[in-house]
Amino acid sequence: MCKPISGRVIRPDEIIFSQIYTDNDPKNVRVPFSWNAIDGYVLHSTHNHPNGMPPSIHDIFSIGFNARDVLSHPNLVASQKSAFMAYYTDVVEAGNGIFYAITVKDMDKLIAKTTGQGNTVSASINNLNFFLDEYRKLLGPDDETINHRIQFLLDYFGDSLNLYVGERDIHGNVKKFEKLNLHMGNKIDKISVACDE
Ligand SMILES: [Zn+2]
Repeated sequence: MCKPISGRVIRPDEIIFSQIYTDNDPKNVRVPFSWNAIDGYVLHSTHNHPNGMPPSIHDIFSIGFNARDVLSHPNLVASQKSAFMAYYTDVVEAGNGIFYAITVKDMDKLIAKTTGQGNTVSASINNLNFFLDEYRKLLGPDDETINHRIQFLLDYFGDSLNLYVGERDIHGNVKKFEKLNLHMGNKIDKISVACDE
């Protein structure tokens, strides 16, 4: 999945790849959703974590909002749902060439866990508070580390999202790309992924 790091749907049967989309604000993970026959919709978002941390719970919720926007669009056709799951990529630049990438494994599960189906603000707030609370419990008195976040994301969202970590060389080429998995005893495990997968 290194290759199609960004893309958008033009017509239900046609997918083209666009430039990395930041909404002119590298910290902005929200993709303002729009769909029309010419522009399609944005399938890539990226922002920086200057502290070097993996994606946050709030980042996952932003992806949930995008997923819900796609599924609730009146002009949705089935192929757009599969295109979103195949191509939507959220990238967090963690500095020093390290980046994290998230793709969507199951849109319905992700929506259920984050924004809920309807346009109710309360569902997303309740869900967000639940995960923030659970995360605080996981941390306990400890300082937050990179592993805490990865462990939590895989444990709570591993059924709906894929999480990858990558590394670029000084020319920007991906030199390492690994899928993160959680094993028994909450051990984090990295599997190398070929760039044409
Ligand atoms: Zn973030």
